[in-house]
Amino acid sequence: MSQKQIAVYPGSFDPITYGHLDIIERGLEVFDEIVVAVAQNIDKKGLFTTAERVSLIRAAVNDNPRVKADTFEGLLVDYVVAQGARVILRGLRAVSDFEYEFQIAQMNHNLRREVETLFMMTSVPYGYLSSSIVKEVASLHGPVETLVPPPVHKALTEKYSRSRPR
Ligand code: ADP
Repeated sequence: MSQKQIAVYPGSFDPITYGHLDIIERGLEVFDEIVVAVAQNIDKKGLFTTAERVSLIRAAVNDNPRVKADTFEGLLVDYVVAQGARVILRGLRAVSDFEYEFQIAQMNHNLRREVETLFMMTSVPYGYLSSSIVKEVASLHGPVETLVPPPVHKALTEKYSRSRPR
């Protein structure tokens, strides 16, 4: 039997958006399993805790058995190898993503030769979609239901309901 092809899709996912989901769904056309890995970054304070982000990812993929949601700390390449994977999956939107991604991909490749980073271009409707822009609009009580899956929409509404203007 051939080995299962696993890709690790790392990021902040604070929170997961339809842009991320699009990469996951397209990734599943290529890989047997995708591990969506939330980075535990002590320097970067997020809106959602890592545990909340993981449960929102699970809800967003409807507990698809081919998608695993997890957290990691330390070197990504070590985590990738520990997962039995050889591929890091990342999404690319604007040209502005390129320089940062290029630097990280090169560093990761230097750290572990056997790990490759593969990039998927965003689908046109999600080209300008990011977790930060979603949070900004949601914090101002703007509509975000076309940008994030229903459980995320609900969680954002709850997070920001305390600051609703009267
Ligand atoms: P990070 O903080 O590591 O950039 P993010 O959660 O913002 O984490 O993004 C994780 C990955 O998903 C990155 O590769 C990012 O480029 C990609 N991504 C985010 N939004 C989109 C989108 N709308 N279309 C395609 N890829 C996206």
